[in-house]
Amino acid sequence: MHELSVAQSLFSIIERSVPKDSKGTVTEVHLSVGTLSAIELDALIFSFDIIKENTIASQAKLIVNSIQGMGKCKSCGTVFLINNFGTSCPECNQFNIDILEGKELKITSICMEE
Ligand SMILES: [Zn+2]
Repeated sequence: MHELSVAQSLFSIIERSVPKDSKGTVTEVHLSVGTLSAIELDALIFSFDIIKENTIASQAKLIVNSIQGMGKCKSCGTVFLINNFGTSCPECNQFNIDILEGKELKITSICMEE
């Protein structure tokens, strides 16, 4: 399952972000996920909850902020919302599009409690 390996890489980021001598626990992990990232959020949260056992983030909640896909037409420069890669420009109907936003998957913040 793709989401399981994504969740594993999130944990390696979390573990690197938390100081080794920290006695606190991670309470919240905020994640930005683009709508074009092809991530199944339910599967990601499920995987996160399995992996978090016995880690510094065992009490952590995964809080997901969804980022809407945005594209810019390379032909006419129109910027518009896109929900999938097969979207054409609403102005000129070309498929020659730069994806500006929506493919990202990144941790935006990690909250800790003493
Ligand atoms: Zn266009």
